[in-house]
Amino acid sequence: MMVDAKQMRCGGCGADGFKLFTADREARIAAECQGCKSISYIEPAPAKLRIEWDDDAQGCITIF
Ligand SMILES: [Zn+2]
Repeated sequence: MMVDAKQMRCGGCGADGFKLFTADREARIAAECQGCKSISYIEPAPAKLRIEWDDDAQGCITIF
């Protein structure tokens, strides 16, 4: 059993049983709800750069 993780359920019918499918190891994973048979896709999203201010910074880098 997973510790410190929240269980996921179907947003439609609330069932917690899924079958997983994929075309190959690099493709997205399709999760089929075993309650209402709806399909959810799980795939990695490209990383994005995020710029934050340091604690003592007067400003952060920006684009002119
Ligand atoms: Zn469902």
